[in-house]
Amino acid sequence: MSKEILVLAGDGIGPEILAEAVKVLEALQAEGAVTLTLREGLVGGAAYDALGDPLPEETLTAAKAADAVLLGAVGGPKWEPLHISKRPEKGLLGLRAGLGLFANLRPAILYPQLADASTLKPEVVSGLDIMIVRELTGGIYFGQPRGVETLPSGERRGVNTLVYTESEVERICRVACDIAMKRGKRVCSVDKANVLECTEMWREVATRVATQYPEITLSHMYVDNAAMQLVRAPKQFDVLVTTNMFGDILSDCAAMLTGSIGMLPSASLNAAGQGMYEPIHGSAPDIAGKGAANPLATILSVAMMLRYSLDAPAVAERVEAAVSRVLEQGLRTADIMSPGMRQVGTAEMGDAVVAALAPVQGRA
Ligand code: NAD
Repeated sequence: MSKEILVLAGDGIGPEILAEAVKVLEALQAEGAVTLTLREGLVGGAAYDALGDPLPEETLTAAKAADAVLLGAVGGPKWEPLHISKRPEKGLLGLRAGLGLFANLRPAILYPQLADASTLKPEVVSGLDIMIVRELTGGIYFGQPRGVETLPSGERRGVNTLVYTESEVERICRVACDIAMKRGKRVCSVDKANVLECTEMWREVATRVATQYPEITLSHMYVDNAAMQLVRAPKQFDVLVTTNMFGDILSDCAAMLTGSIGMLPSASLNAAGQGMYEPIHGSAPDIAGKGAANPLATILSVAMMLRYSLDAPAVAERVEAAVSRVLEQGLRTADIMSPGMRQVGTAEMGDAVVAALAPVQGRA
């Protein structure tokens, strides 16, 4: 049965990197490995320019109807002067909330071919393979009350609220345990239970969920220590599970262990297994339109989509193997370039991945 994918290119380098991801999907489709219907929609600044809204109603409706959403990136200096309700990022937050995408999966994998791209010593990061599971629809980014008010004294007061229900914590911890069962069976729950009551409850719920997974080893870590351990000895981690804000920060930190933001994909899932897949980087306005962006994070997001929403893990592995192969061939975009390698542009890198997809017999 054909699966429906909504393709949202967004802004900046978004259209350039998504074109390469679509090439990969079309190549797989042409050989019969997948049966897909690709539809396009508008989000972010591009949607604001066309329709006055960073998340037009028709985009959200199409996203809800699709089996998966493949997104490039949103944002850029052009839209920064807009009121916060009209900024491109609202499109992204609206999609996450509208689809109920509560689980954000961010793998941080260091490809051996890129070991020298990391700022950390090769022995600290080589073989790194962490999965960060970030809660995405709750916590301080959505909590009420929020805002900035002016006190009678004339001084302004800013408020944001960290709030989680037990069920929100339970479902994200369950996702982390389910993923860990397919990996190293270790989950580290990250909180600030020594200071924040909300995360003291998080710790209790995480402990309760883990008792239902006797094979899982659960540990707890304060977020400040987790940040330190990520740069001191990152290979101690298998799966990390944490709140929206802590996950936002820790996953960028983990991303940099791997050397380039241009290599890292992400998946955001809802309770029905529907997902949105996107590179973790932004719209990179500084290199947009130059054909220099690294499309591999987006292509690896396609692999996650094949695995988590399209039930095609074998095809996902082929895409990941093809990425590994082009790195092995010495092809590098500017962000991961190193001496002795061959620098290529966005489209050439996409073409190389398509060429490196090993042919299969029949459907995978
Ligand atoms: P960014 O990730 O866009 O760029 C940071 C740096 O990394 C830049 O030097 C950029 O050139 C480089 N870079 C990023 N992706 C790359 C790629 N694929 N290949 C090569 N180099 C790459 O972050 P930023 O500069 O802080 O933000 C730019 C815009 O993107 C802002 O408007 C921001 O709000 C938005 N943003 C969007 C998302 C998203 O859509 N999910 C995420 C983060 C930032």
